[in-house]
Amino acid sequence: MEFQASGPSPWPRRRTVTVHVGGVPVGGAHPVVIQSMTNTDTADVDATVRQVQALAAAGSEIVRVTVNNEEAAQAVPRIVERLRESGCMTPIVGDFHYNGHVLLPRYPDMARSLDKYRINPGNVGTRHRDDNFRIIIEEAIRHEKPVRIGVNWGSLDQSLLTRLMDENARRSDPQDAREVMLEAMVQSALLSAAYAEECGLPHDRIVLSAKVSSVPDLIRVYRRLAELCDYPLHLGLTEAGMGMKGIVASTAGLAVLLQEGIGDTIRVSLTPRPGGDRTEEVRVCQQILQSLELRAFAPQVTACPGCGRTSSTYFQELAQDVQQHIQERMPEWRRLYPGVENLRVAVMGCVVNGPGESKHAHIGISLPGTFEEPKAPVYVDGRLFTTLRGDHIAAEFTRILEDYVASRFAPREPLPVDGR
Ligand code: SF4
Repeated sequence: MEFQASGPSPWPRRRTVTVHVGGVPVGGAHPVVIQSMTNTDTADVDATVRQVQALAAAGSEIVRVTVNNEEAAQAVPRIVERLRESGCMTPIVGDFHYNGHVLLPRYPDMARSLDKYRINPGNVGTRHRDDNFRIIIEEAIRHEKPVRIGVNWGSLDQSLLTRLMDENARRSDPQDAREVMLEAMVQSALLSAAYAEECGLPHDRIVLSAKVSSVPDLIRVYRRLAELCDYPLHLGLTEAGMGMKGIVASTAGLAVLLQEGIGDTIRVSLTPRPGGDRTEEVRVCQQILQSLELRAFAPQVTACPGCGRTSSTYFQELAQDVQQHIQERMPEWRRLYPGVENLRVAVMGCVVNGPGESKHAHIGISLPGTFEEPKAPVYVDGRLFTTLRGDHIAAEFTRILEDYVASRFAPREPLPVDGR
């Protein structure tokens, strides 16, 4: 998917340098970038290519793959080649743990074909930690790649943590152990970045992350990182969990930080159900950014929750039909009608809030509630457009919606003949 800038952020963004990951700029004034990670065996080229394509088609602007062994390292250049041949230009990031210092120099085609390396400073080794870290950084310098220094509390640099704990114990006013752990994460990220620069990696080739699984800790650790550096930050709650828990916890943490202008690229680490759809995490990222009005990806349907005033399930069915219609039509609408992702539609259950909410949307319908006259006023651009009655309200509303999209979002310049 092509990378597109959106409108200006409604809140001031934290100032950062811009890091270019493949063709995608991260940080600075650039829109917050969505990324995701495959869960296929990277050595399985077909499966990994298919999943990267699916994630990219869903809107992932960067995709990470694990490079955990020799087979995965050998597969990476073939994966990238297949993707590029298929027209998928999404940057691919290699995720290295324990053996990046061995794999990157041993497989230069792999090192060259990746667009960024992710290093976890907590697991590059203990005895030869600095040497191993330096080897990875030298590979990044040689191949002109950016790196993400990704600290994770599950694999925090134990020697650093022990040192900070000892220092804390000697203080007259020792801090809570959790505070020390969060400080160790921040220090691990910053010290590693400083060392990477000492080794010669340019300042604008470093992205930082410090992932934890608790929302309050995530907010604290990223606020602190944001204060202390101008590297772009990759936000995400690690091990967010399954389903609603993972979505709500990730949203709670990311929303607070994004509203403060902190965060340049995001990932929502959802655990899919067995055989579940990996692309869900991409759609959650999009919804977070769109709800915060940071970016727009798809028209938004505002629907009331319904209550005792709604006379039947008709209102829920209509809201669902409209949502589904938009989803089905979006591939074509996106091609034909630039800006259609900013469309707002309201589907409301009765006259209490229906007309008011409808007037705030581009197009809105208010269904009759219990004991209300059986009519459904439709508002377009804040004015009463028509009133629908009878058995075909859904079909008529959909037609009005189609006409509205065609007239409101039609490009001023004629489209090229092939529609692209
Ligand atoms: S708009 Fe009407 S039906 Fe919907 S929640 Fe409010 S009162 Fe209930």
